[in-house]
Amino acid sequence: MFINGYKEVAVAACRRFSFIFPPLVYGYRETALAAEELTNAVCPDCGQHGLVCFVFSNHVHFFWIPLFPISKRKEIDCPHCEQTYTRAQLLKKRSADKREISRISRSAKTPLWKFSGIALVILLIGLSIGAKQLEKNRPDRLLNNPKIHDIYWVKGEFDTRSTIRIEIIEDDSIYFAENQYYIASSGRIKDIDKNKNYNTAELFAISKDDLKQLREDRIIYNITRKNRC
Ligand SMILES: [Zn+2]
Repeated sequence: MFINGYKEVAVAACRRFSFIFPPLVYGYRETALAAEELTNAVCPDCGQHGLVCFVFSNHVHFFWIPLFPISKRKEIDCPHCEQTYTRAQLLKKRSADKREISRISRSAKTPLWKFSGIALVILLIGLSIGAKQLEKNRPDRLLNNPKIHDIYWVKGEFDTRSTIRIEIIEDDSIYFAENQYYIASSGRIKDIDKNKNYNTAELFAISKDDLKQLREDRIIYNITRKNRC
């Protein structure tokens, strides 16, 4: 039931994509997983032994990257008369041993590379989540490792925003130059974050403990560093 549903979804997705991508770059691909001679089988057509049981696996590919397998298929060929049979046809004619075919089919495992597209998607999602998390934590990392000219974005009275810039770093305290301009909360910090706007003549100090508290309270709501190395 699940397998059928999953197959239908894959087929529907391929049809939908056919409007966007030419069929050349997506579709199904079949590869042989096993080929083994049946010791207890006789060809119903020519009466010869030596029938070969092939197990094929079908997978969906996109840009030739295998996404996931969707089905397995068995085919039994006679090398003498070149007739091809399905498992059901041979069993109906009592020309083969059901258990032998089942054993070959079970031993033909789907290789992991057939899932490489899915693995790639999961990897990319993981990397993207990791990158977002790193970006989200960046202000706190910068707070713990301050550098001269880091810009602290601060909330002011009446829903205003402004910046302060690190000028001197001491063991317990940091000295900042205040930006002489501010913006409304809907404004853009980059419009006021200009060198000439900082009052470097009158620095003020904030202890590192107080800075941590201000960050926790989100009064310092962002920290940026121009040189990102
Ligand atoms: Zn034959």
